[in-house]
Amino acid sequence: MISCTKKIEFDAAHRIIGHDSGCQMVHGHRYAVEFTFTSTDLNHMGMVIDFKEIKNRFKNWIDTHWDHNIILHRDDKALGDAIQGYTGQKVFYLDYNPTSENIAYYLYSFVLQEVFKDLPKYIHLCKMIKVFETPTSNSCYSV
Ligand SMILES: [Zn+2]
Repeated sequence: MISCTKKIEFDAAHRIIGHDSGCQMVHGHRYAVEFTFTSTDLNHMGMVIDFKEIKNRFKNWIDTHWDHNIILHRDDKALGDAIQGYTGQKVFYLDYNPTSENIAYYLYSFVLQEVFKDLPKYIHLCKMIKVFETPTSNSCYSV
């Protein structure tokens, strides 16, 4: 078995409803997302999967939906509407608080499954994703 791991970064804002300190305020992070592919075979170039292909597929989704945007709980619709009305950006809503744990769950369960659904059968998406909210704090979702 051989593996390759990619880390992709983006900038986004969020807030945590119900948090008793600064996290309840709108603030931003330089997020980093890390996930791995494994394979028992390599392609004709000697790779599990081209890092550029990983970046192109995933980063395209991130750039379209999350980079330089705000990720909010659906219950924060009034805030999102105010921001969208002022800036014109398309606010992204989750059905739960946008903690790094929930972001990891969402990215693994929905985004990675979608953008990598047509990979060759010999390439396997590892059953884990890490989301770094800061260089020293990350959440990991695994199945
Ligand atoms: Zn935060």
